[in-house]
Amino acid sequence: MKIVIGHKSPDTDATCSAIVYAELNNAEARIMGPLNKETEYALKKFGAEPPKIWKGEGDEFILVDHNESEQSIGDYSKVIEIIDHHKIKIETEKTIKVHVEPLGSTCTIIAQKHFEKLTKKQAGLILSAILSDTIVFKSPTTTKTDIEIAKRLGEKIETNEKEYGLELKKAGMSLEGMSVEQIIKKDYKEYTLQGKKFFIGQVENADLKETLNIKKQLLTEMKKMNYDYVLLMLTDIIHEITELLIIGNETKIGKVFGKIVKENSITLPKVLSRKKQVVPQITKQFS
Ligand code: MG
Ligand code: MG
Ligand code: MG
Repeated sequence: MKIVIGHKSPDTDATCSAIVYAELNNAEARIMGPLNKETEYALKKFGAEPPKIWKGEGDEFILVDHNESEQSIGDYSKVIEIIDHHKIKIETEKTIKVHVEPLGSTCTIIAQKHFEKLTKKQAGLILSAILSDTIVFKSPTTTKTDIEIAKRLGEKIETNEKEYGLELKKAGMSLEGMSVEQIIKKDYKEYTLQGKKFFIGQVENADLKETLNIKKQLLTEMKKMNYDYVLLMLTDIIHEITELLIIGNETKIGKVFGKIVKENSITLPKVLSRKKQVVPQITKQFS
């Protein structure tokens, strides 16, 4: 069985790229954990079934929206292909097919190649992933290609892409009924840098006040986690600002961004993207 699978802590891009690419390749889509609210909303809207959670099955794998081992299935010997928009950090034993481009989402890469073949459902899923990853084109990871393809997809499914983007983000940002731990783990990536284990999470919000209200509880929970560094980006996507909560060597992280850490946090105006505005800066400091 051939499986298309996205990263741990699945987001809309990881899930939708797996669903669509599996359908295009006669393979099966899997996810690495439960869906977040935003992805659930997108799948429901376009009538897609949530993929099954991966339990170790499969003979051949196509990795989408990730390539680093910390975020993956563990065994690279069965990986035959990778489609991604993150920096490459792998070594393989044999030659495999790799398609990586610095675009706003993995789904943009898939749409670029297979636009004419896409059904309305697939077009809706791909559009959702582009809007999600680019934070409705506000993230600095957004490219002209993302905007162009989203526009064409919007036309294809007769949807105003910006309006739908805000609707999708709104559905995903609700913290209602979530525990502090669930909020921290809503969207996270793990990295190992200089032998130190990093957890970098992100919580998107329409107003920082809501998350800053529970800053103390968040920090208490973050301290309990088994990492050298636990970082949590509280990102206000409307006012385009991130409050970064830091557990670990706080001074060292503060220095990365030229800030003095106060009560375990720093304010980062215009920072929206973990991939482009946080991870590379930290990687540089720890290499
Ligand atoms: Mg992703
Ligand atoms: Mg992505
Ligand atoms: Mg993301």
